[in-house]
This record gives sequence, C-alpha cells and structure tokens, in this order.
Amino acid sequence: MKTEKLKYERPAIRKMNTGLMNKFGTRTEYAPFTHIDGVSVKELINKYGSPCFVISERTIRKTYQNAVRAFKTRYPKVQFAWSYKTNYIDAVCNVFHQEGSWAEVVSIFEYTKAIENGVPGNKIIFNGPEKTKADLQIALENNSYIHVDHFDELYDLIELTQELKKTAKVAIRVNMDTGVYPMWDRFGFNYESGQAWNAINKIMASEYLEMVGLHCHIGTFMLDTNAYAIAAAKLSDLAVNIKYVFNKTIQYLDLGGGFPSANTLRGAYLPGPDMIPSIDEFAEVITNTILNYGYKKEDLPLLILETGRAMIDDAGYLLGSVIANKRLSDGRRATIMDFGVNILFTAFWYEHKITPAQEFSSHTEDMVLYGPLCMNIDVVRSSVTLPALNRGDHVVVHKVGAYNMTQWMQFIAMRPKVALIDTNGESHVIRENETVKTITEPERMPEHLKTFNL
Ligand SMILES: *Cc1c(COP(=O)(O)O)cnc(C)c1O
Repeated sequence: MKTEKLKYERPAIRKMNTGLMNKFGTRTEYAPFTHIDGVSVKELINKYGSPCFVISERTIRKTYQNAVRAFKTRYPKVQFAWSYKTNYIDAVCNVFHQEGSWAEVVSIFEYTKAIENGVPGNKIIFNGPEKTKADLQIALENNSYIHVDHFDELYDLIELTQELKKTAKVAIRVNMDTGVYPMWDRFGFNYESGQAWNAINKIMASEYLEMVGLHCHIGTFMLDTNAYAIAAAKLSDLAVNIKYVFNKTIQYLDLGGGFPSANTLRGAYLPGPDMIPSIDEFAEVITNTILNYGYKKEDLPLLILETGRAMIDDAGYLLGSVIANKRLSDGRRATIMDFGVNILFTAFWYEHKITPAQEFSSHTEDMVLYGPLCMNIDVVRSSVTLPALNRGDHVVVHKVGAYNMTQWMQFIAMRPKVALIDTNGESHVIRENETVKTITEPERMPEHLKTFNL
C-alpha cells in the first residue's frame, strides 16, 4: 500500500495571539463540509473552477417560503418585493419571481433588468435617490410604483405628469427616529420634522399624483425588532392622518428590508445565529403594530416587505482553494486563498464561517486568511481557528449570497463563475466568469497608442 509522505513543517515559537474569547471559547470546525445539496464540492470546483460561487435554489425557496409564512399567518394582506441590489443575477431574481415576489429596484439599471426578466411594470417598486425625468417617464408609462425620495424629484414628477396628463402612483419614503443610531435620515422625507407631512400635502394637492403608499427602509442588519414597531406606528400615524384630513385610504405600507442574516458581525461577542432575532419575531412586532393601530377593517393596508439580505445570504457559498502558507514575523500562520475582498466584499463586515472541504487533522491553529490581491486590505479573516490547510485544499465560505455578487469588483483578478444547484440537485452556470476579452471589449485604443517599440 502506498502511503503519502507527511509534510514536515519547521516548528516555530509564537507569541499567543488568540482571537477574542467568549463564554463558549474560541470556535473551530469539527467536520469537513463536502457537499452542497448533495453535490460534491470537489466536483463543483472541477466543473466551475476555483474560486466559484454556488447558490442553492432549494435554500432560497425554503427561506422565502418561511418568511412569507411568518407574515401571512399573522396578517391578511402581504406582498414581498425582491430587492434587486442584494443579488440581481437574473436566475436568482427569477426564483423569487416564481415564488410570487415583485421587484424592488433602486436605479434605472435595475429597473430595466426587472422589465427584461418579465416583471409587469405595475409590480415594480422604484426606490432610490436617483431617478432622472426620463427614468420617471418610463416608470410612469409602465404604471410602476414610484417612491419619491426628495422634493426635487417630486417637482420633476409633478411637471412630467402635467405634461403627459397621466396619473402616477406614488408613495414617499419616510425616514424617522426608530431608536437605532446613526439614523438613516439621508433618504426620503423626515417624519419628526414634519417634512413627510409637507410632501404628503404637496402630493395630495397635485392633479396627477395618486398617493398610494408609505415607505420606509430604516437600516440594514437590524438587530432590534422594536425599531420596526416604531416604524410601523409612525407610518400608520401618517396613513390614519391622510384618511382623516383628505378622506384618502392608503393602499399599502412598505416596511422595507433590513432583517439580518445569520452571519456574525466583525467583533461581535456572540456568533450570528445565537443573537439575531428570527423572521417570526420581526413579523410579530410589525403585524401587531399595524393590526392594533386602529385602522377601520376595510382600510387595513397591504403590507409590503423588501427584505434582501435575510432571503439570500444563507443560499450562497463561495468555494475556493489554498494558494500557499507562510509564517508572519510574529510566528502566526498565514494562509493565502485564491479569493479575496475583490469578490467577497462582505468580509469587511462579517466574520464568515469558513470550513475545509476535505478531511483534516485534529490539530488546529489560530491563523490569518488572506486573499490573493497585492493589497494590504485583502484580509478574509484576521483571526480564525482552523486546522492546518495545505496547498490545493478546498474551503467553503458560508452565507455569502447577499451583496457579494453585486458589490464585487474587477480589481487585479477576474470575477469567477456563479453556479446554481436546482431543486433536483442539477447544477447550472448562471453567470459566466470574466475573461480578458469581456473586460477589454469596452476599451478603445486611440490610433497613436496602437504601437510601441521597446
Ligand atoms: C437595500 C434595500 C433593501 C434590502 O435591504 P436588506 O437590508 O438587504 O434587507 C430594501 N429596500 C431598499 C429601499 C433598499 O435600499
């Protein structure tokens, strides 16, 4: 029998440099993570290359259905709208649309993507601070919900609807004090100062604007459910006043997104799964606040949710490989991976769970995980306890479905493939990797720079 020779590594004396202790001790991985939805990680890497993103369609559907259930069992009228910026790969969006989700977009780029995916114009919510008059006209002609962010946009919209003599369905984004600081007051109209009410007055006074909804998006990765109770109450206060003053029924309250995923924030005392409230807890405070607010039965508004991160983070994995190991000057082990912050943008916020994809020894060590970029900030984990990883070993980074595939950057390296494992365990490429050709294709070379002699 042929046995592989064990690798020798010179012993090194090291200063203790452990991560922050908590009452559970430092965590480590106990078993390799070899399969995603029954598909072998090794096979996926052979097929799609390393690194690559893999998305579980089964997990998206399960997470989504669980969230919908949490709200629909507590409230009669609920609609989800998929937040495109969280992950706008078309195949991912279409899983949500198949599940019944509308589209929530924050730019004309995302708006166009939703239209091209086949979402009817009247099931698109158009948010965001940048909407040109041309953008507004498209949304108006498609009968989309326009969520006004500021007075300049409101005046544009009043002008446009008067020119076209066409009625726009509008809501305003409201910002408010929910007890969570810093306050997100740069978007929308402020509640406490009376600015929101001022915007409502202007809308109610204009001939071609129909006030259909009220919107807020109070933050992201919110850990305080009570903030949503405050938000739902403040929006309800506006809705009830609109009914009282103008005898106008508000069709919907849109509570935005912001629910956390089960990731661990950098420097957090407890791991994410142990500290985040469940979707049921958020649903409970939001629906109770609205149900108990005092609406007449026939005026109870539709409840819209634009939750992004919490719907997709769990379904995304990043598979990668070890490029090299080295010792830092203080003796700590450093492992260099073939993925870095260029494609794992959320490494700036999260301490991602990273698991070896093959059997490993019981010896673990505190180490630094670096990416492949020639740049000091390229740190995937600044301190993580893992078994020694050898060159060529594979790892799986968990819960990376949100924001990475939209905020990734083409810097130094090219962006990898994204694959989706369907509910039958078949895998499909849903986004090809970049090539030198796809990157240089939009570049143009002036005639005088075409040649040189070295
Ligand atoms: C980004 C965004 C969302 C989704 O936010 P999450 O924190 O990912 O749930 C929803 N609504 C608006 C307006 C957004 O900008």
